[in-house]
Amino acid sequence: MARYTDSVCRLCRREGRKLFLKGERCYTDKCAVVRRAYAPGQHGQGRKKVSEYGTQLRAKQMTRRYYGVLEGQFQKYFEMAERRSGVTGENFLRILESRLDNVVYRMGLASSRPEARQLVRHGHFDVNGRRVNIPSFLVSEGDVISLRSKSRENEKFKMIVESAGGRPVPTWLDYDANKLEAKVVRLPNRDEIDLEVEETLIVEYYSK
Ligand code: SF4
Repeated sequence: MARYTDSVCRLCRREGRKLFLKGERCYTDKCAVVRRAYAPGQHGQGRKKVSEYGTQLRAKQMTRRYYGVLEGQFQKYFEMAERRSGVTGENFLRILESRLDNVVYRMGLASSRPEARQLVRHGHFDVNGRRVNIPSFLVSEGDVISLRSKSRENEKFKMIVESAGGRPVPTWLDYDANKLEAKVVRLPNRDEIDLEVEETLIVEYYSK
């Protein structure tokens, strides 16, 4: 499957904000957004006049990159959100939040979403007691996500848990730090999703 292989920091610089794709480095002054607060490329420092379409496109791209989802899958999530009752934009963000790789990141068991995706792929997590190694798996209310017992002794996880200790786990997940597992109490409300984006812009982008 096609994957973005260039520097992920360029994505943050392009969106003009931190997307937290590199774990610990994102919280230090080595972060590329801090060091070079302008878009990458030859015209990165030029004046920008952004059209209405451009604003919608940037909102869509920023959100897609934040969650690390490819365009085709992202569009499918939007169609899924449209079919659900309620506000499409909020449904959309809720679907993105319920991806297994995002939930693992939210639990603090990975320092970034890209790392969470890799850990899920390597089969370190169970959902309701069964191994799931599909990062795009969508969790539902009542599901229990846990680190597999074999993986608990893994030094990598010990380090990750220690370094991610300061990141609060959202209240829609009932997290047990001793068991390293979380129950999905409910899917998140909009005010529980800390992504600063006007999701209506994404709805407008796909509604053209
Ligand atoms: Fe983005 Fe993190 Fe790189 Fe900063 S260090 S530019 S937040 S990926």
